[in-house]
Amino acid sequence: MQWKIQIFEDLLNLLYPRVCLNCGNSLFRGEEVICTYCRFKLPRTNYHLLTDNPVHRAFWGRVDTEAATAFLHFSKGGMVQYLLHHLKYRERKDVGIYLGRLFGYELQRSRLYEKLDVLVPVPLHPRKQKLRGYNQSEQIAAGISQVLKIELMKEVLVRKEFTETQTRKGRYQRWLNVGEKFDVKKPELLEGRHVMLVDDVITTGATLEACIQAMHKIKNLSIYIGTIAYVSD
Ligand SMILES: [Zn+2]
Repeated sequence: MQWKIQIFEDLLNLLYPRVCLNCGNSLFRGEEVICTYCRFKLPRTNYHLLTDNPVHRAFWGRVDTEAATAFLHFSKGGMVQYLLHHLKYRERKDVGIYLGRLFGYELQRSRLYEKLDVLVPVPLHPRKQKLRGYNQSEQIAAGISQVLKIELMKEVLVRKEFTETQTRKGRYQRWLNVGEKFDVKKPELLEGRHVMLVDDVITTGATLEACIQAMHKIKNLSIYIGTIAYVSD
């Protein structure tokens, strides 16, 4: 059977050549999304090995977190921006799962993350998710979950719908309300657990901080943060 599948795959490859999303070279068997060369060029941060790193530092004095990391450095016009653009706006869900898996292998090698037992993706605004058809953070979390073999909880953290009055408020007012954007459903599911909040990019950390604030009443909760990219200023 195996060889039949192989022939089928080879035929498919002839008809629809699989190419590296980044450089356009054809992909070899076993390569996915990007080629091995581009995979080696990914600007890894290695922050998962350090308690003291710029991502974790962004939360100090704001909210309690066990550990925080971002897999890659984000630079304007760079490969990471390009890949994430395809994940978010070109319906390439597979890019999220792929990057999530690579990130998962890194986390697996760090003692700081060995207690992790739940992944919670940062929810999109319901209207945005309807428009896009999926939540990119959920795809990333799905990839991590495949490698670490831990639970992915998609519905426990939700983004509140804007009310009429909120939409009419000015930008500053809305910024003030950022902490009220999220809600936790069934908080008992997260009691006593080691939860990683997963997002695509971290800049100021305001969104993740708001998520953590919404979770503050959960008993014995340990929070970790994991994003694919880190934008430094
Ligand atoms: Zn390539």
